[in-house]
Amino acid sequence: MKQILKISLSVLCLTVSAFQGVEGQKSGSLRMIEQVDFSHVKIQDAFWSPRLEKHITATLPVCIDQIENKTGRIKNFENAAKGEGKHSGIFFDDSDVYKALEGISYSLINHPDARLEAKADEWIDKFASAQRPDGYINTYYTLTGLDKRWTNMDKHEMYCAGHMMEAGVAYYKATGKRKLLDVCIRMADYMMTVFGPGKRNWVPGHEEIELALVKLYGVTQQEKYLNFANWLLEERGHGYGSMGTEGKWNPAYYQDEVPVRRLSSISGHAVRAMYLFCGMSDVAALKNDTGYIGALNRLWDDVVLRNMYITGGIGSSVHNEGFTEDYDLPNKEAYCETCASVGMVFWNQRMHEFTGDSKYVDVLERSMYNGALAGISLSGDRFFYVNPLESDGDHHRQAWYGCACCPSQISRFLPSIGSYIYGTSEKALWVNLYIGNTTEIPMGTRTVKIEQETEYPWNGRVKLTLSSPMTKEIRMRIPGWCKTYTLLVNGKRMKAATEKGYAVLQRSWKAGDVVTLNMEMPVEMVSADPRVKQDVGKRAVQRGPLVYCMEEADNKVDFDKLMVSKKTTFKTIFDASLLNGVEKVQAVNGNETINFIPYYAWDNREAGKMKVWVDYVP
Ligand SMILES: [Zn+2]
Repeated sequence: MKQILKISLSVLCLTVSAFQGVEGQKSGSLRMIEQVDFSHVKIQDAFWSPRLEKHITATLPVCIDQIENKTGRIKNFENAAKGEGKHSGIFFDDSDVYKALEGISYSLINHPDARLEAKADEWIDKFASAQRPDGYINTYYTLTGLDKRWTNMDKHEMYCAGHMMEAGVAYYKATGKRKLLDVCIRMADYMMTVFGPGKRNWVPGHEEIELALVKLYGVTQQEKYLNFANWLLEERGHGYGSMGTEGKWNPAYYQDEVPVRRLSSISGHAVRAMYLFCGMSDVAALKNDTGYIGALNRLWDDVVLRNMYITGGIGSSVHNEGFTEDYDLPNKEAYCETCASVGMVFWNQRMHEFTGDSKYVDVLERSMYNGALAGISLSGDRFFYVNPLESDGDHHRQAWYGCACCPSQISRFLPSIGSYIYGTSEKALWVNLYIGNTTEIPMGTRTVKIEQETEYPWNGRVKLTLSSPMTKEIRMRIPGWCKTYTLLVNGKRMKAATEKGYAVLQRSWKAGDVVTLNMEMPVEMVSADPRVKQDVGKRAVQRGPLVYCMEEADNKVDFDKLMVSKKTTFKTIFDASLLNGVEKVQAVNGNETINFIPYYAWDNREAGKMKVWVDYVP
C-alpha cells in the first residue's frame, strides 16, 4: 500500500515519577500527568528485551572497562583523593563515570546483581575520598589547581556535579544507600555558599545542574535546591556568562543571549539546549511558572517545525554541535548527536506531562526509535556519536570516544525506557508507548496491575489486560502516523472520542477487562518541507514509528541510481535472520526492487553506502 504523506512541519508533518520526573510535586502543579516510573514496569517485549539484555551483558561491561582500564577516569578520582598525580583525559570526564553509574543503578532496579552493586560501591568510595573538605568535587581542578576553580564558566564544574547528583539520586533509589547522595548534598551546599542571591553570579556553560538540583530536591524535599536551580536559570541572559571563555562562542551558543523566559528560537549547542529545557520544565512544574511554559512552547515549535530531522535528531552542524539556520538539514553532514536525541526524549516527556498532548509523544517516539536507538550497535558494544542520514560507507560506530558523553548517555537511557510507557493523572491512566510489559501502578492506596502485549513496532496490534478493577478512564495514544485503527473492549468494537491524539475509554473497569487496539501500519513515502533544500526532489520511507533507510549491503547494484516514484509499490516482510529480526520494506518499481531496513539498524554489517532520503521521480 502506498501513501504520500505531505509534511508541513520541519522536516515532517508530524502529525513521571522518577527517572526524569520529579517526586513530591505539590498539588495544583502545572504538571497534569505523572510518569509511571520504570521501577514499576517489567518489560517483556520482543523488540526491546534483547536490547535490554545486551545492555547488561555488553554495554555496561564496555563502559566499566573503558572507565577503569582503558582510560584514566577512575584513576583521576584516586589521584584526586591522594592530592597527587596528574589528571588524564578531558576536563569533564568525571561526568561519564557518573552517567555510567546512573545506568548501573537503573540496571540494578531492573535486575539486582550483587557484583555490579559492589562495583558501584567501590566507585562511590573513590568519589567520596576525592571530595574536598569544603564539599567541592571535580578531579580536573583538584589535580590541576584548585585556585583556578570557578574561573571559567565553560569548564563544566556544575555539569559534572549535576551528573553526580543524578547518579546519587538513582543509586539511592536503587539500593537505599546514601553515601553518594550525601556527597551530592555536600557539593550542592558548598556551591550555594559561593553562588546565589547576594553572592557570586554564575552561568553554567553546559546546562545539566538545573534538572539535577530538582531531582535532589525530589528526594530530600529541601526547597533550597529547587530555589538554587531556579536562581541558576534566572542568571542566564544578563551578560554574566562570558567568564574565562575569551569569547570563543557567542552567548547564543550557551542559550545565554536573553533571559530564559524570553527565549523564542533555538540556537547553539543542541544537548545543552535540551538539558536547559528539561530544567526549565521541572522548575516550571514545581514553581507554577507559566512564563517558562510560554518560552518552552515557542521553543518546541522552533525545534520541531523548523530544525528537526525525520529521525528525531537535532543539531545539524559539527561546528557548534548544534543549530544553524531554520530548515538547514544536510544529510551526509548531519551532526545529530546521540545525546541530543536522548535529550529530545527527556524534554518531550516533560512537555507531555503539562498537556496530555500526544504530539509530544510522537516526537519522543520518533527520537527514541530512530535518532537515539541508532546510537548503539545491535551487539550493544559500539556507539555512534554523530548520526548522519546519508553515508558514503565511511561512518561507523566506535567502541568508545575521547569525549564519551554518548556511550554513557545510552547506558543510562536504555534501562529506564520503561518510564515512558504509562502516566497517571487525576482522571486517567495514559498509555503512551506500545511496549510489551507487566506493570503495577500505584493509584492512591491501591495498585492497578496491567499487562500489555504487542509486536510493536513491527505491527500495530496492542492488547491491554487489566488484572485489577479501576475507576480511571484509559487513554490510548493514537500515534500521529496512524490514520486507521479499531478499538475493542472485551472483544466488542468501541467508538471512543479522541482528545489531543488519545482515544478516551470511560467505564468502571473490572479485573480481566481487555482493551485491544489495532492500528494499520502502512508504508508511507514522506516528503520534507520544501524549504529544506537538501531534501528537494527526495522522499523518505517510514512505517509506523520507524524511519527506514537503504543500505548498500542490500542494494549492491547501482546504489546511487535507485529512485522511487508515484508508481512505486511497497511490500513488507519480517526477516528473522536479518539484523536480529526486522520487518524489511521492499520498494517495487516494475522488475526492480529496492530494499529498505530500519534506520536504527544501519551499519551493523559490512561497510557500505546508506541513505534515508531517496531520489524521487516526479
Ligand atoms: Zn553525546
